[in-house]
Amino acid sequence: MTLEKTEMIRYKSTRGTTPPVGFDEAILSGFAADGGLFVPDTIPLFNPAELEEMAQLEYLALAERIIRRFIDPVIMPDHDLRKLLRNSFLYFDAEETVPVVYLNQSDLHVLELFHGPTLSFKDIAMGFLINCMDYFLARRGEKLSLVLATTGDTGPAAAYASAGKKTLECWPLYPKGMISEEQERQMTTLDAANVHPVGVEGCASGGDDLDIIVANLFADPEQKEELKLSSVNSINWCRVMAQTVHYFFAYFRTVDKVGDEIIFSVPTGAFGNLCAGSIARSMGLPVNQFICATNDNGTLHRLFSNGILSRQELKTPVRSAIDIVVPYNFWRFLYLTCGQDPTSVKMYMSLFEEQGMIEFPAALWNKLRQGFISYSISDTETLDTMRSIYRGPDGYLLDPHGAVAVAAAKRYQEETAAELKIVCLATAHPAKFPLVIQQTLEQGEDLPEAALHQTLEQAKNRFHHLRTCHYGNLEQALTRAMKRQLLK
Ligand SMILES: *Cc1c(COP(=O)(O)O)cnc(C)c1O
Repeated sequence: MTLEKTEMIRYKSTRGTTPPVGFDEAILSGFAADGGLFVPDTIPLFNPAELEEMAQLEYLALAERIIRRFIDPVIMPDHDLRKLLRNSFLYFDAEETVPVVYLNQSDLHVLELFHGPTLSFKDIAMGFLINCMDYFLARRGEKLSLVLATTGDTGPAAAYASAGKKTLECWPLYPKGMISEEQERQMTTLDAANVHPVGVEGCASGGDDLDIIVANLFADPEQKEELKLSSVNSINWCRVMAQTVHYFFAYFRTVDKVGDEIIFSVPTGAFGNLCAGSIARSMGLPVNQFICATNDNGTLHRLFSNGILSRQELKTPVRSAIDIVVPYNFWRFLYLTCGQDPTSVKMYMSLFEEQGMIEFPAALWNKLRQGFISYSISDTETLDTMRSIYRGPDGYLLDPHGAVAVAAAKRYQEETAAELKIVCLATAHPAKFPLVIQQTLEQGEDLPEAALHQTLEQAKNRFHHLRTCHYGNLEQALTRAMKRQLLK
C-alpha cells in the first residue's frame, strides 16, 4: 500500500494572473506580482466534532491547530511551527494570552487583544509573521528591508518584532506629530541596530501620504529588487491568518456550549481583523453577526449600509488606528465572498482605482453584507462610552478603539434585543492613549492606574533614536539610507 500523497497548500492571487506559490513565498513577498492579494486555494473547514475538541485548548495549542491547516508541513514541520508560535507569544503579559473579560453592567464580553509587547492587537500577528519571515530568510541565506507606513500601532509592533533579527532591516515611517507620544517612543527607544524609525514632517494627509511613498518604492521592480523590499502591512496573508485564532479562542471561552451562535463587535480600520473573522466563520465557527464598528470616516460603514465603496476626506479623529481610507483587505473579502472569481475582483479593483468609487449591484451587496452590520460611532459617543463604563459598577477602563466596539454593540443590543452573547474586541491598551483618557476625566483628576503601563513609563527614560525628514525629500533620503544599510 502506498501512502496517499497530500495536496500541497498553495496560495493564489485575488487577481488570478500569477501562478500559485507556497506559504513562504506568499508571506515574503507580501502581495502577488499582479498586484493582487494572496489567498489560500482552499479554506479549511472544522466540523462540529473537531470544534468540540478544540474548545479545550489553550491559546498556543489552538493557534497551532488552526495555523497548521494553512502551512504545508513540508515548508515548516510541526516542531518548527510550535517553536515559532511559542517565541511569538513569549512576551505577552496575560496568562491566557488574549483573555476574555465580562462586563456585567452591559452584559458584554471584552476580548483583550492588547497584552503583547507593544500593547496593541497588532502584536498578535506581527510577531508570528516576522518570526516566520526570519525563519524562511535564514534558511535561504537572504535578507529583506521591511518598509511600512504607520499611523499608530503597526510600526511599534513591527519594530519590536524585528529588533535584533539578522535577516531584517526595519524602516517604520510615521507622520511626525500625528501619532501619540507613546506610540512614537515604542519605535524610537528600542536599542536595536536594525530598526530605523523615520519621523516624517509635512504630511498633509497623514499616513496616506506615506502610503504613497511606500507604493512608489514598490512600483519600480528594479528598485524593489535592489532595496530587497518587503512589506508586513495588513495585506500580508500571515497577519490575516494569525488573526483568525482569537475569534476561535474567544468563542470557546464565551459560549455555554459549542455550536451556539455568537456575535463579534470589531473596531475596524483596514478590515484585516474583520476579514480574519469572516474567514474564521468560513472555517466553521458559528458566528451569527459581525458588528463592523467604525469611526466618522466610515468607508466600510457606507459600504455595509449603502453598498457603496468610496474614498473620503480624512478628519483627525480620536482614534488614529482606525482612520484608514482604503480598506485593502476588503478585496480579499470580496474575492472570498464572490465565489473566488478573480475576474470580477480585478474589474472592481480597477474601477475603484479609476473612479474612487464603486456602487455594488444589489445581489452582490446582499451577499457581502450577509452577517454584517455596521455602526459609525462619533468621537463624543466614544468618550461617553469610556466614561460610563469606567464610572459604572465594572469600573473597567477601555481604550478608544475598544470603546468604539462597545458603543456599537450597545446600539445593536438596543435595536435588536439581542439574546446571543456579544464579544467586543479591545484592540489597544488604554495606556497608549492617555490624552484621550484625560478627556473623559473630571478636571484635575489623575490618570487611573489602569491607564499606565510600566513599559511605556520606562521608555520615557530612554533616548530617542530616529531619523527625521521632510515629506518632499523622503523618497530620496530613504532609498539612499536603505542602500547603505544593506551594505553594512
Ligand atoms: C490596526 C488597529 C485597528 C484596526 O484593525 P484593522 O485590521 O485594520 O481593521 C483597530 N484598533 C487598533 C488599536 C489598531 O491598532
